[in-house]
Amino acid sequence: MAESMMGLKRSCRCAEVTEANIGQELTLMGWVQKSRNKGGIIFTDLRDRSGLIQIIFEESDCGSESFAKAEKLRSEFAIAVVGVVEKRSGAANTNLKTGTIEVRAKSLRILSESEVPPFPIEENSKTKEELRLKYRYLDLRRPDLQKNFVVRSRVATMVRQFLADEGFLEIETPTLIKSTPEGARDYLVPSRVHPGNFYALPQSPQTLKQLLMCSGFDRYFQIARCYRDEDLRADRQPEFTQIDMELSFVDVDDVLDVNERMLQKIFKEINGIDIELPIQRMTYREAMDRFGSDKPDLRFGMELKNISEVVKDCEFVVFKGTLENGGSVRGINAEGQGAMPRKKIDALVEYAKGFGAKGLAYLAIGADGTYKCSFGKFMKPEELDAIVAAMDGKPGDLLLFAADKNKVVFDVLGNLRLELARQQDLLKKDEFKFLWVTEFPLFEYDEEENRYVAVHHPFTSPMDEDLHLLDSDPGAVRAKAYDIVLNGTEIGGGSVRIHQADIQAKMFEKLGFTPESANSQFGFLLEAFKYGVPPHAGLAYGLDRVIMLMVGADSIRDVIAFPKVKDASCLMMEAPNVVDQKQLDELGIAIAKNEE
Ligand code: ASP
Repeated sequence: MAESMMGLKRSCRCAEVTEANIGQELTLMGWVQKSRNKGGIIFTDLRDRSGLIQIIFEESDCGSESFAKAEKLRSEFAIAVVGVVEKRSGAANTNLKTGTIEVRAKSLRILSESEVPPFPIEENSKTKEELRLKYRYLDLRRPDLQKNFVVRSRVATMVRQFLADEGFLEIETPTLIKSTPEGARDYLVPSRVHPGNFYALPQSPQTLKQLLMCSGFDRYFQIARCYRDEDLRADRQPEFTQIDMELSFVDVDDVLDVNERMLQKIFKEINGIDIELPIQRMTYREAMDRFGSDKPDLRFGMELKNISEVVKDCEFVVFKGTLENGGSVRGINAEGQGAMPRKKIDALVEYAKGFGAKGLAYLAIGADGTYKCSFGKFMKPEELDAIVAAMDGKPGDLLLFAADKNKVVFDVLGNLRLELARQQDLLKKDEFKFLWVTEFPLFEYDEEENRYVAVHHPFTSPMDEDLHLLDSDPGAVRAKAYDIVLNGTEIGGGSVRIHQADIQAKMFEKLGFTPESANSQFGFLLEAFKYGVPPHAGLAYGLDRVIMLMVGADSIRDVIAFPKVKDASCLMMEAPNVVDQKQLDELGIAIAKNEE
């Protein structure tokens, strides 16, 4: 029978008890981790979110009624124990914070019993994730997951405190809004009052925070839930949390400055690391050239080298043809990997093909300095020597080359670089390399849609130096946009916004909006910009990703209390789900029947 709290007050959490409490009578509550009856004496590990403590039940101390209850204890019963803290009689348990003490029970209440849980509540669970997610409330009892949420809560508190101290105001923006473009599909919510009309859930508070700047709030932040109906990818969540901010009367440096001080503070407190300021900055162009990625992982080198000049006169058709078609030939040097077996190299070639490469050329330098080269027979010896010199190749190195359009070459070598680093175990989770990537292109050409699309979003300002290119060469215009990258993951991004009506109009035009369509979608913003809009800029972090990297979790799901799985469903609540016909009727919605 479940007993109630009547008269009981918890003294502290289980693992908050220390040797200083020896001799004191305490009341502890929590869940039974395990209970062993050694005949006449029962050892129970009591667990709460702070950790474990050992409880000892003996009839002579706790009386026959409590002892009889203690005999019934099973894993995950919720109990309350009143007892006296003692030095451990047996050997100390060095794995436990409370390993040198125990609590001799004077009385026991069973607050509620538990069925046998579907999986054991333990660290590093071997249980399949689907089962754990179905019973997420039990999964969340596991100490390794609980730790993540402690960090998450501390980070949110620190962010609030830091930004408040910097003069930011926390302002909530609505989640039933009109579509804001961040490049993904919207989640829609039908309106009952306006049949046939829909709200969109925000992909981010972008337009609203810009309006707050128009209102004069100056510095805004919000820990905001955002929704993006993107195609399914393993580590994406349809809803996620941003630390979102916007500042008025600022330029790029002001935003970067306040943000790197915030990162420094948080990572010092949580991870004990000292981020040196200013954080390194790299233009998008340089990041692509050196790392083949706009979010380079700087925990290791293996930089890309452009050898187009070196091979431009060679007879190897793959290289020659690529260069004639305006592409490039670039390579990376996997130092010390020259003896890699052929099979493994073949696997790398397959890997590269996954990123659009037609193949991968390689040159292995033996310990004796001889070459094993996939394209050797098309090259003169001195040409090979020139390639090796350009790649800083030494005996024992493996040189890998891609020849294609730049976009493909970057993608292939950027990813190959990461794959090789994974194979060589170069990616240490406790090493934190931050980087600002700046000067992103403003536009990207969408081959499918046959038009330019905004790389960041349509409100991002072009760089002043490139304004004159807006008409003549849009693809070459750089933006006042920046990303903050940690260990090869983009953890945040933002930009200086357009605050000039004429440039915004031009931007919409370039993106294929007519004045009418721009007006119907963003009229409210354009209208606001007529009444004295301050220059403003901002940034948003993906909080889930930040926490994931901070705690070294393998999946974003490990830092979200009730995450969804790859197909965007919640296995616990079974959402999404069908609704009553009455609800549909009220909304004027009919479900199209799938003939199959
Ligand atoms: N709204 C942008 C995003 O969600 C961030 C920003 O520009 O502030 O990526």
